Amino acid sequence: MLLFDAHLDLAMNALEWNRDLTRPIDEIRQRENGMTDKPDRGRGTVWLSEMRRGGIGLCVATQIARIQHNAYSPVFGWRSQEQAWAQTQGQLAWYRAMEESGQMVQIRDAQGLERHVNLWAEAPPASSSSSSSFSSSSSMEMGFEKEDNDENADDRKRRLPIGYILNLEGADSIVTLKHLERAYEQGLRAVGPAHYGPGVYANGTDAPGGLNAKGREMLKEMQPLGIILDVTHLCDDCFWEALDLFSGPMWASHQNCRALVPHNRQFSDEQIKALVERGAVIGAVLDAWMLVPGWVRGKTTPEGAGLTLEKIVEHIDHVCQIAGSARHSGLGSDLDGAFGREQTPADLDTIADLSRIPTILKARGYSEENVTLIARGNFVRFLTEAWS
Ligand SMILES: [Zn+2]
Repeated sequence: MLLFDAHLDLAMNALEWNRDLTRPIDEIRQRENGMTDKPDRGRGTVWLSEMRRGGIGLCVATQIARIQHNAYSPVFGWRSQEQAWAQTQGQLAWYRAMEESGQMVQIRDAQGLERHVNLWAEAPPASSSSSSSFSSSSSMEMGFEKEDNDENADDRKRRLPIGYILNLEGADSIVTLKHLERAYEQGLRAVGPAHYGPGVYANGTDAPGGLNAKGREMLKEMQPLGIILDVTHLCDDCFWEALDLFSGPMWASHQNCRALVPHNRQFSDEQIKALVERGAVIGAVLDAWMLVPGWVRGKTTPEGAGLTLEKIVEHIDHVCQIAGSARHSGLGSDLDGAFGREQTPADLDTIADLSRIPTILKARGYSEENVTLIARGNFVRFLTEAWS
C-alpha cells in the first residue's frame, strides 16, 4: 500500500548528519559505529531504499534552519537569518540533486500529485515477480537507466522515485517576505512558522506568547501564495491567534495528543477539534516521548517502556474519535528528526515498518477504506483541494 509520511527531515540528515540516504541501511549504520556527535549515530531508520521497501512513496520533506535567539538557548541556531537562509538553500540543492538522479521528484501541484500517486499505484506489488505491467518508458521518465530486461517487479518498485512536498519547519530562514516568494517559486508549499523556542515570526514549543507583527505579516503573505500553514510546533498562544488570522489551508504535519501524553508540544482536544473544523489533517508522529508519558531522553528504553507501534494507533484513534470520522488522521513519522532506534517503538527497525500500521488499524476494526484514508488518502485529498 502506498503510504504518505507528512514529516521527514531528509536534507538535514544528508547535510548535517552527512548521511548518503541512497546507500543501503546496513552500510550507513556500520559506518556510524562509534560516532558520538549525534544522539542517533548507528541507529538511523530512514533511507530512501527503506522508504521504497515500505511503500512510503510520498512524503513532506523539510528545509530546516533556526537562528539562536539568545546565548541561553539550548538548541543550536545560526547567528543570523542570512546564514539560516543559506542553510535551507543548501538543503534545497540536495533535494535537486536527488531529483536529477531520479531518486526523488518534487510535487508542487495537483497534476503532479495525481501523476505520482498513479505511478505508485500502477507499480506491481513488491512481492510480485511479473515484469510485464511496467513499461520501460516510465522507468526512463523517472531518470533511471534501464539496465536489464530481466529486472523483476521488486527491482522496479525499488527504483520508483520518492515524491516530496517541500515544507519549511520554523521560518527563521525567511529573511524578508521577498524570500518567501522566492521560496514558493522553488516549490515551497507549506510553512511552519515556529520550531522549538522563540522564533523570528512566532513562538514554538516551550515558548509561550502570541505572534509578533512580522508573524502576522507572514501569515497574510502566505495566503495569496496558497502556502499551507503547518501549525505543528506553534505554542498555544500563537496557535489560536494563527487560526483566527489565517483562512487558508492548514495541517499539523507531525503532531500527537496532549490527552494521552501531556506536554505543550502536543495538541489538546480543543485544538484538535478546531483543526478538524478547519478541514486539517493531523500526522501522527513516532518520536517515543510523544507516544508514551514519562519518557526520559537517554534513559527510558523502548523495551522498558513497552513501546510498540500500537501506541501510534492510539493517538490516531484519539483524533478519529474527536473528529467522529477517519478523515483527519494521517502519518507524520518524523523518524529522522535527530533520533533513531533508541527513541522509537521497539518493534520498528526502519521506516519500512510503517507499512505494518495499516494491519494494526484493521485489527482495531478500521475498515479498508478508512485505513487507506489514514495511510495516504486524507493528505492526498487535502493537497488536491488546497491546490485546485
Ligand atoms: Zn518537528
